[in-house]
Amino acid sequence: MRIDKGRLFVLSGPSGAGKSTVINRVIAGRDDLRFSVSATTRAPRKGEVDGVNYHFTDRAHFEQMIENGELLEYVEYVDSYYGTPIKPILQSLEKGVNILLDIEVIGAGNVRKAMPDAVMIFLAPPSLEELERRLRGRADVPEEKIISRLERAKMECQKIPNYDYLVINDNVDDAVNELSAIILAEQCRTSNRLHVLGE
Ligand code: 5GP
Repeated sequence: MRIDKGRLFVLSGPSGAGKSTVINRVIAGRDDLRFSVSATTRAPRKGEVDGVNYHFTDRAHFEQMIENGELLEYVEYVDSYYGTPIKPILQSLEKGVNILLDIEVIGAGNVRKAMPDAVMIFLAPPSLEELERRLRGRADVPEEKIISRLERAKMECQKIPNYDYLVINDNVDDAVNELSAIILAEQCRTSNRLHVLGE
C-alpha cells in the first residue's frame, strides 16, 4: 500500500544544463515517479518519439487545448507553444504517483501559482563558461542560437531564488543523486504523510 501522497516536482534549467539526461536517469525503473509529457508545436528532433518526449501537435490544436482548459500552464518559447496537460497530472497525483515536469522558468512560476505545493528544483550548469562549452560541443547548434541560448540562460539563472532547491550539474552522477534525494526527502515530509494518522 502506498502511504505517500503524490507530489508535483518541477525541474527547470538552461538548455545545455543536462536536464534530459538527469531526468532519464532519475526516472528509470521507478513506478512511483512519472515524467509529464508536454504538448508542443515545435517539430520533433531526431530520435524524439511522439507521446514519449512530447505530444507533437499543430498550432490550431494547441490553441484548442488552451481554450478547453486542458493545460496547467503554457508558454510561447522560440516561436513554438509548449504546455503541460493537466489531466494526466491530476490522475497520477490522485493515485499517489509523483510527477516530474521539465519546463522553463516562466511556466514554472505559473505552476507554482496554480499549485503552491509544487516542489521547484533548478538544475544549473557549474558556470556560464561551462554551459557555453557544452552548447558549442553540440554539433547541430548554429552560432546565433548559441548566443541566444546563453542570453536566455542568464535570464533563467536570475530566477534561481524562486526555486526551493538548486542542483549544480558539475557531475551527472552527483546531480542524479541530489535530485533523487530531494524527491525522497519531499516524500517523507510529515505534511505528506499525515493521512496515515487519519488526518
Ligand atoms: P526543447 O525545445 O529544447 O525540448 O525545450 C525548450 C524549453 O521548453 C526547455 O527549457 C523545456 O524545459 C521547456 N518546456 C518543455 N515543455 C514545456 C512545457 O510544457 N511548458 C513550459 N513552460 N516549458 C516547457
